[in-house]
Amino acid sequence: MVRFHVRGGPKLRKAYVKIKKAKTSRYACPACSKQSVKRESVGMWRCRSCGSEFAGGAYELSTPTGRLSQRLISDLREGMLGKEALRMIEAEIEKAEAEAGTAGASAGQKE
Ligand SMILES: [Zn+2]
Repeated sequence: MVRFHVRGGPKLRKAYVKIKKAKTSRYACPACSKQSVKRESVGMWRCRSCGSEFAGGAYELSTPTGRLSQRLISDLREGMLGKEALRMIEAEIEKAEAEAGTAGASAGQKE
């Protein structure tokens, strides 16, 4: 639901509605698995049931880039990364940045 008028055309309005929905909805708690994690502040999420706090995305509990990073860390721990895997990861990072749109643009800028 849009509470006030967003100017700038349908593209910006759709982007606003998507972010608004992501930041106000409840997420499943990674600790107690109840649907009660709400946004506390930018990137801060707290479970209303067990009180656990999580660092996450600015507007959603986990971002595509964040999920990729977590998988990379677990893969590194398991020692699964060879040269072939690193090439696949670079391709996936580019994909995740494209999905994130302008949010990840600063990190992936090329000269
Ligand atoms: Zn919880």
